[in-house]
Amino acid sequence: MAWDFETDAEYQKVLDWADEFVREEIEPLDLAFPHLQFVPLDDKRRKVIDPLKEEVRRKGLWATHLGPELGGQGYGQLKLALLNEILGRSQWAPIVFGCQAPDTGNAEIIAHFGTDEQKQRYLRPLLDGELFSCYSMTEPHAGADPTLFKTTAVRDGDDWVINGWKFFSSNAKTASFLIVMVVTNPEVSAYQGMSMFLVPTDTPGVNIVRNIGLYGEAEGEGSHALIHYDNVRVPADAVLGGEGQAFVIAQTRLGGGRIHHAMRTIGMSRRALDMMCERALSRETQGSRLSDKQFVQGYIADSYAQLLQFRLMVLYAAWEIDKYNDYKKVRKDIAAVKVVMPTVLHDIAWRAMQVHGALGVTNEMPFLAMVTGAAVMGLADGPTEVHKITLARQVLRDYKGTSGLFPTGHIPALREAAIRKFADRIEVEVASQ
Ligand SMILES: Cc1cc2nc3c(=O)[nH]c(=O)nc-3n(C[C@H](O)[C@H](O)[C@H](O)COP(=O)(O)OP(=O)(O)OC[C@H]3O[C@@H](n4cnc5c(N)ncnc54)[C@H](O)[C@@H]3O)c2cc1C
Repeated sequence: MAWDFETDAEYQKVLDWADEFVREEIEPLDLAFPHLQFVPLDDKRRKVIDPLKEEVRRKGLWATHLGPELGGQGYGQLKLALLNEILGRSQWAPIVFGCQAPDTGNAEIIAHFGTDEQKQRYLRPLLDGELFSCYSMTEPHAGADPTLFKTTAVRDGDDWVINGWKFFSSNAKTASFLIVMVVTNPEVSAYQGMSMFLVPTDTPGVNIVRNIGLYGEAEGEGSHALIHYDNVRVPADAVLGGEGQAFVIAQTRLGGGRIHHAMRTIGMSRRALDMMCERALSRETQGSRLSDKQFVQGYIADSYAQLLQFRLMVLYAAWEIDKYNDYKKVRKDIAAVKVVMPTVLHDIAWRAMQVHGALGVTNEMPFLAMVTGAAVMGLADGPTEVHKITLARQVLRDYKGTSGLFPTGHIPALREAAIRKFADRIEVEVASQ
């Protein structure tokens, strides 16, 4: 029997250290430097952040998302999940631990598909936390269906020339380079005709037209860029993983990215549950504490059960990724995780907000930001509906239809077969009565 839900004692010590470090040293950064995670580190911020990063490195916890062959610490996804659920409590923690989105996914595909020269130029500084990156795939007219993308790269001598528009390229304004998905061969299907390019952000023709903000952010000061690629010329060696490989690479990237978001979502949801429970035990109304009211008990019970289910799902998918080392084999369960993730965070944050009354909906508490975060999770890395379709297709692969008039579970036929199976014994029993 190999099923075991225990964390080994040595690693538990590491997690305990990380838990205290995040609470004591990093969570205060969220208050001192809110919404500034992706601003390049100036001297003032470096003074605070660099010693924290150093401490994480000393503990061997820097960039644990990649295996040693890819330049990381090689913790594997399960250990990473246990760490990430701690980091998910704080906006800054993933940066201090060198495992923030979208850089983790970007680092992962460069590590998998990059040439030695590309790794030297982009992966090394990315892993060192010296620069940020951007994944530029969605277009203004199409997101969920990449086969509709129109941005092209056309070969011109030794170069490629990129033209088109990209939308919601998160973090482009602070990224040193962009990973851009474009059409390189319109004659074949999109699955073979699209390629990924590594493009330094300061390449002439990369025009950030607008930085779109999410709800609550100042207009034009968000971090999701509308980019016009206007005759952007890059050398032939800017292609990542070979011409026509964009879909294969995207699948690898998004597989990892989705599960990492899920790991952090456990931490965020637990934070909301912690706050809900504290408030329920602290607040009195109409003769008893909130925690004594059955409605509130229902909120707490439902939230705990949802979080437990979700956590086990995420840990199981992480374990499967480590076991198979192949995202394709875990596609079904990663899709299942992605499908439930927004609902879990939304429901728990919403109940926590409700239990806090008026205070809950103010900008002095984090709940509405969490609810917005849940809505974002239902879109970023693909809408929930699309993942449900993937999930259903994967589930259906294990089944086949029947040509009979009635389903194979039809009880009369099953009963008849059962009676036939035991016919000899039934006759003997009847005869001996
Ligand atoms: C905060 C945030 C960050 C993001 N960061 C990035 C990034 O860094 N890089 C990047 O390239 N993109 C990024 N995106 C874009 C994201 O990947 C897209 O929003 C997503 O793929 C959906 O595309 P869309 O917004 O164009 O919606 P559409 O494709 O227009 O879909 C709209 C809606 O239609 C429905 N729908 C779509 N397809 C189906 C279907 N097959 N069946 C049933 N219903 C369907 C769904 O309800 C869906 O929400 C980000 C998005 C957000 C919100």
